[in-house]
Amino acid sequence: MTVTHPGAQPSAVGPAENFTGSVRVDSRFQGTAPARIGGGIVTFEPGARTAWHTHPLGQTLIVTAGVGLVQAWDGPVQEIRPGDIVWIPPNVKHWHGATTTNGMAHIAFSESLDGRSVAWMETVTDDQYRR
Ligand code: MN
Repeated sequence: MTVTHPGAQPSAVGPAENFTGSVRVDSRFQGTAPARIGGGIVTFEPGARTAWHTHPLGQTLIVTAGVGLVQAWDGPVQEIRPGDIVWIPPNVKHWHGATTTNGMAHIAFSESLDGRSVAWMETVTDDQYRR
């Protein structure tokens, strides 16, 4: 059993090729094989969001702070708030992030397939984000 304490690893910055705006990742975790689970706490400043992406085995988000948005490629933009649980099925193209006016933080959980838990795509344009 492993207990990892706050401060054991530095905060990471969400890289510009995968995120728009200011995004911080803390408390990253990864199970050991044969477990596939991994994730972290992701904090988005107002206006910040992921690029479009998919997860080979899906993803669960639990919103912990602020007001956020999530959208699947063929679906509406949905507002998410603390306590909301979002399930994104495998290979569904989507994005998640803050609103224009409020930051948002969520815990993200996803399982890896062949060592990968995410496939990144193009950034979410301002027009897509604001519609
Ligand atoms: Mn995702």
